[in-house]
Amino acid sequence: MVEIVANLHMHTPYSDGHLYHREIAAAAARAGLDVIVVTDHNVLVGGKEGYLNGVLLLVGEEVHDVRRRPQVNHCLIYGAQGEVAPLATNPRRLIQEVVQRGGLAFLAHLIEYGSSLDGDLAAIPWTDWDVRDYTGIELWNYMTEFKARLRSRPAALFGVLFPSLVIRGPFKATLRKWDELMADGRRVVAIGNADAHGTPVRIGPLRKVIFPYEYLFRCVNTHLLIERPLTQDVAQDKRMIYDALQAGRCFIAYDLAGRAHGFTFTARSSAAQATMGSELHRHGATRFEVQCPAPGWITLIHNGRPVARRLGRQLEYTSVAPGVYRVEVQRLFRGRWRGWIYSNPIYVR
Ligand SMILES: [Zn+2]
Ligand SMILES: [Zn+2]
Repeated sequence: MVEIVANLHMHTPYSDGHLYHREIAAAAARAGLDVIVVTDHNVLVGGKEGYLNGVLLLVGEEVHDVRRRPQVNHCLIYGAQGEVAPLATNPRRLIQEVVQRGGLAFLAHLIEYGSSLDGDLAAIPWTDWDVRDYTGIELWNYMTEFKARLRSRPAALFGVLFPSLVIRGPFKATLRKWDELMADGRRVVAIGNADAHGTPVRIGPLRKVIFPYEYLFRCVNTHLLIERPLTQDVAQDKRMIYDALQAGRCFIAYDLAGRAHGFTFTARSSAAQATMGSELHRHGATRFEVQCPAPGWITLIHNGRPVARRLGRQLEYTSVAPGVYRVEVQRLFRGRWRGWIYSNPIYVR
């Protein structure tokens, strides 16, 4: 498997973002990303996919019902081969249609807290839980977390000046919700994204872009394990990337806290082996192995409960119990333990 780094959620002026595709791809190249997927609100922008500055730029969209107040239920859509935004009023049908077309659907920023400081910072979570067949969830959305940290004017100013001191990880409630969604054996892929807009804001006489695309691309990303190195053939590479996403062969990393390349989470039971996103049919006990590129607090979680915890670069654990196993790693960064790596699960049957 080959590891590549992707960011799967961002906007251009086709919706409410500030930079166009070409400039965003240049920012992604500077930040060292391999793949970006531009997801403008309710519009699938055609003719933009391709390699730019060595970065593969793909186009998906973020669909929601614009007439609904508040504007909840944002759904990230990849590979749906056509416009599906007209189905926005019915998230269940929207997701059905996407899946039927061979596309992927992720519930974006499903839990939000919002901020009372500004109407634009209101919470827009996922609310329609009768949806089925979605590929997964956006477990960690950088801008959603940042917004939640803006509880007061002084806190907002502090956050704008020192964002790396306020970003801590996905919300506990989102992690809990993910575990709940998987409790009945359903596979739910988790991804982590920037949700970059690059919008300048006015602070007194200053006009400043608080979160340039490039900065956000150095923060919360999704690392994908693809079958072969990227070939520079757009159609073929797109297929490999969306296959890995669909299979959950990926982990989320806050790369600013430390380059997360090389993280692995594997399981073995007799001759059977599995990595993130896959199922393992056990024969007796299962041996889990976690390898981190740098030391951190590694926690192995089984059906939502921590079962092993260790400070270091490795963790090994043996269990006879079936269920959903996933890994979280915290890293000491800017004076506190912060969320660093969140693996997709191995489903032991
Ligand atoms: Zn959104
Ligand atoms: Zn967005």
